[in-house]
Amino acid sequence: MASVTEPDVIVIGSGPNGLVGASMLADEGWDVLVLEAQPDPGGAVRSGELTQPGFVHDRFSAFYPLAAASPVIRALHLEDFGLQWRRAPVALAHPTPDGECAVLSTDLEETAASLDNYRPGDGKGWRELYARWERVSAHLVDALLTPFPPVRAGGRLAAALGPREWANFARFALLPVRAMADEMFSGAGGPLLLAGNTLHTDLAPEQTLGGLFGWMLACLGQEHGFPVPEGGAGRLTDALVRRLEARGGRVVCSTPVTSIEVRGRRAVAVRTAHGDEIGVRRAVLADVGAPALYGSLVHPEHLPPRILDGMRRFTYDHATVKIDWALDRKIPWAAEPARRAGTVHLGDSLDHLTEYSAQLATGRIPARPFVLIGQMSTSDPTRSPEGTEVVWGYTHVPHRVRGDAGGDLSGKWDARDTEAFVTRVERELEMRAPGFTDGIVGRHVLTPPMLEAEDANLVNGAVNGGTAQLHQQLIFRPTIGLGRAETPIKGLFLASASAHPGGGVHGACGANAARAALFADRRQRFLATIPGFGVAAPAISRRSDAEISRRA
Ligand SMILES: Cc1cc2nc3c(=O)[nH]c(=O)nc-3n(C[C@H](O)[C@H](O)[C@H](O)COP(=O)(O)OP(=O)(O)OC[C@H]3O[C@@H](n4cnc5c(N)ncnc54)[C@H](O)[C@@H]3O)c2cc1C
Repeated sequence: MASVTEPDVIVIGSGPNGLVGASMLADEGWDVLVLEAQPDPGGAVRSGELTQPGFVHDRFSAFYPLAAASPVIRALHLEDFGLQWRRAPVALAHPTPDGECAVLSTDLEETAASLDNYRPGDGKGWRELYARWERVSAHLVDALLTPFPPVRAGGRLAAALGPREWANFARFALLPVRAMADEMFSGAGGPLLLAGNTLHTDLAPEQTLGGLFGWMLACLGQEHGFPVPEGGAGRLTDALVRRLEARGGRVVCSTPVTSIEVRGRRAVAVRTAHGDEIGVRRAVLADVGAPALYGSLVHPEHLPPRILDGMRRFTYDHATVKIDWALDRKIPWAAEPARRAGTVHLGDSLDHLTEYSAQLATGRIPARPFVLIGQMSTSDPTRSPEGTEVVWGYTHVPHRVRGDAGGDLSGKWDARDTEAFVTRVERELEMRAPGFTDGIVGRHVLTPPMLEAEDANLVNGAVNGGTAQLHQQLIFRPTIGLGRAETPIKGLFLASASAHPGGGVHGACGANAARAALFADRRQRFLATIPGFGVAAPAISRRSDAEISRRA
């Protein structure tokens, strides 16, 4: 990299969190440089023709209710930069092998009627859950997506609830999803809808907080559907990059950062794998996993022992196997509502989800994986030729495989393991959609190590930047003593999903880091006006004259 003028901020990594933080700082007139390790930007928000020409696959994430609801992403007005949302007629279907199917539709009547089919009265249970959401959602989303502690949003939430309801809500928020489902439903449909959404995290049906995640995601689906960007997940990244570039920011790909230089307890430069050292005037935002930041990018001599110790205990969420299929037809679901759904969950019952979670917890490859399926052409017909389907799917496997609950897979994820596991997943589809495999014209598989090779933050395929369990949330994320974007090093901020509030495409981790950088910078500039408090911060430059060679 030649002749680079020091930018105000370097953002390491161009995932959604990095790009949101970058855009917010560019809005404030900062000269922003984003350095991305991979050949293309977007992190886990990228798409491409993985199987057949004309079939656009989402390489990692696919559905963005969190982005649609996120105040920080909404405030970026990405529609002005080409983003268009598309939605399937039904947000989510949960068909079981007996032919039954629970449905989450943006039409409340349809969701309630689907649950009443399981047991009359369960529709009322869903209406009550959704009414609770309508009462608190605006304040709750704000409270979760702003830095911890969320003083203002938390205050508004408490005021909306009132003192008595506040205690009820606090209890509700801590419920495991099995307990929440038991309290609200008698039949099997409601528990499936809630728990299937909970299992987008690594929380088992019996774990604290699981109910809250399942309820929130289901209610987001009820309110917004599960939207996808027209043309592929990469169009969301394109819009973020275009917005940043329109404000003078730059994204340079194929440039892994190998270390952050710290002098006088301040981040002053980064080193890249090409051997360049690039100085920085105000801040470094790290859209990288917390263990990578504190375990390799920053030399341990700059870190207090408690952080190093905390990182030794940092827990990633489960490993993942991701499968994409190109089909020359639509999926022949036995249950009609599943044919209209964007997202389809494959799990037999709440007990099945508990067994699957127990197998993961005990290090065994699940015998009957719980699979998250996306019907991408049903959600957005531009993804493939008419009458065909782009199918997206993933399921979890243990990080350290100690056995196989369904056969003799080794967990090495060699060709034999991979083929046998794909057959296992396809059996789940066949059980609910006989003839599924006859339509396959292309298949693309990412095993845990392959996911990490395509995005270093997806450590062994962990999708959420760290476990969602309570012991690593809020003030404990990424570890005790951090809990916010600030790090022990001045001018260095953690911007990835390893920071509060964690995984998903909502941009809040990046936004929190950008706000923290702005606050620290203003503070420093104010202190600099006081005699004896150090040198003045540099004036903010709207544009850099940096010439960056694109070393791809
Ligand atoms: C298979 C899968 C399915 C998912 N499905 C959904 C979904 O449907 N909806 C949803 O909301 N979320 C989903 N997620 C989760 C979501 O994608 C992530 O939580 C989100 O992308 C996190 O954003 P991030 O910016 O923190 O990190 P990432 O998106 O992982 O981006 C990090 C970026 O930093 C780069 N990087 C890392 N280290 C360096 C370095 N040293 N130098 C330079 N660059 C570096 C990486 O290459 C990458 O581009 C899914 C994730 C996966 C893997």
